[in-house]
Amino acid sequence: KHQVHGRIDGPIVMIGFGSIGKGTWPLIERHFEYDADKFIVIEPDAGKANFLRQHKIRHLQLALTPDNYREVLGGIFAEGKGFCVNLSVDTSSLDLMKFCRELGVLYIDTVVEPWAGYYFDTADNAARTNYALRQAVQNEKVANPGGPTAVSCCGANPGMVSWFVKEALLTLAKDTGREVPAPKDRSGWATLMQSLGVKGVHIAERDTQARRQPRPRNVFVNTWSVEGFIAEGFQPAELGWGTHETWFPENGYSYDTGCQAAIWLDRPGAITRVHTWCPTPGPQFGFLVTHNEAISISDYYTVGDAAAPDYRPTCHYAYHPCDDAVLSLHEMFGSGKQQTIHHILTEDEIVEGIDELGVLLFGHEKNAMWYGSRLSNAETRDLAPYQNATGLQVTSAVLAGMVWALENPEAGIVEADEMDHARCLDVQRPYLGPVEAHYTDWTPLQDRWEHFPEDIDERDPWLFRNVLAS
Ligand code: NAD
Repeated sequence: KHQVHGRIDGPIVMIGFGSIGKGTWPLIERHFEYDADKFIVIEPDAGKANFLRQHKIRHLQLALTPDNYREVLGGIFAEGKGFCVNLSVDTSSLDLMKFCRELGVLYIDTVVEPWAGYYFDTADNAARTNYALRQAVQNEKVANPGGPTAVSCCGANPGMVSWFVKEALLTLAKDTGREVPAPKDRSGWATLMQSLGVKGVHIAERDTQARRQPRPRNVFVNTWSVEGFIAEGFQPAELGWGTHETWFPENGYSYDTGCQAAIWLDRPGAITRVHTWCPTPGPQFGFLVTHNEAISISDYYTVGDAAAPDYRPTCHYAYHPCDDAVLSLHEMFGSGKQQTIHHILTEDEIVEGIDELGVLLFGHEKNAMWYGSRLSNAETRDLAPYQNATGLQVTSAVLAGMVWALENPEAGIVEADEMDHARCLDVQRPYLGPVEAHYTDWTPLQDRWEHFPEDIDERDPWLFRNVLAS
């Protein structure tokens, strides 16, 4: 009853079998034809071995490193066909994608990840940014255009949210009486966003998933990779920097090389709060955690010259993780120590809640519109095994990205913004629960505490100066 989207010839190698890998595997099984004995998981954690054995999945219990990845992957992919699905932490996305393209193997990942150690052993904050990590992938794309498809950053966010931006733009165009056919290329999309008067985009997320047991002290609890979240939370806050901004943060840095679409702040993202909005809570605080899509979306929708654009939207993540993760961050930053016990909430222990993940397009004639997925854990359990709602939003995006790569095998290195969003959402939508557009008249100047002066500028409610919480 599940639609098979295509056949994958040669080995399928899944690197990492954490919360996302474990949830992606059943979707691959449902939606592709392949030789089951050619599905191989590379996963160093012995704790995953039992599950893999019970489900008769081939398991290479080792960690990929700069020293062994060519030998390991070169051996498996000796015939020069197959698919490498990278869902690990601590492996270099760039090195792996370059090698897969050299081998003639399709590749997908959900984040531009560096090798182990990079996030905490790099002293220079500018080098620890996603700008630097993404730019290295972009430089490789320019140096070696075309060739075997490698999909960079195709999870929920980064990933799916880029497809939501396009759906949201078409919806906004229709609702403002400007119904237009879907643009065919980047410049068409950028001009559409500009013509609709969109000043910026929050990747606005509220995760309300919770279990019955209160969070124990000294345990970092999250709904997806704790390691991944701590790593990105300690990176500097970053955002795509729009042309409507009239003020520049004192601790901000811009670039004069690369796409120049973003800036970074000399402060960890996970303690940098922003005012934002989601349908369930209405106004809320989110954390300005750095993400690839904040940069890629601002870059993609730039009109004109990179250094002096005619138009560019501001874009950043505004993340309210599950309440236990908020407490975990509070404890971690307050104590100056990372918790050593990590826990990812499973679909079985979660008793309530949804992951509400969408894009808030703001500053246009209808003020603001949130467009996204409001997937509950309860619905997720009916849709697919081995994952919570957060997981399914990610794994179904990986599925969609794999289908697109199979259908477009010689597209070179691509980001979600550059893929056919309608095709990808076709594949993904059955797994997203309600996907809805919500308009709001809320602005960042509303619902604040009036007793203390704040550094705001009332001339334009949607300036980042007003969004940033003091
Ligand atoms: P996880 O922490 O649950 O699992 C990561 C797995 O990678 C672990 O099982 C770990 O043992 C394995 N691993 C560690 N080092 C490795 C190595 N050197 N070689 C091979 N495997 C190794 O994480 P997760 O929640 O499954 O997330 C996986 C990745 O997906 C992370 O990089 C995360 O940032 C990313 N992610 C992206 C999105 C998105 O929406 N784009 C969302 C969630 C997670």
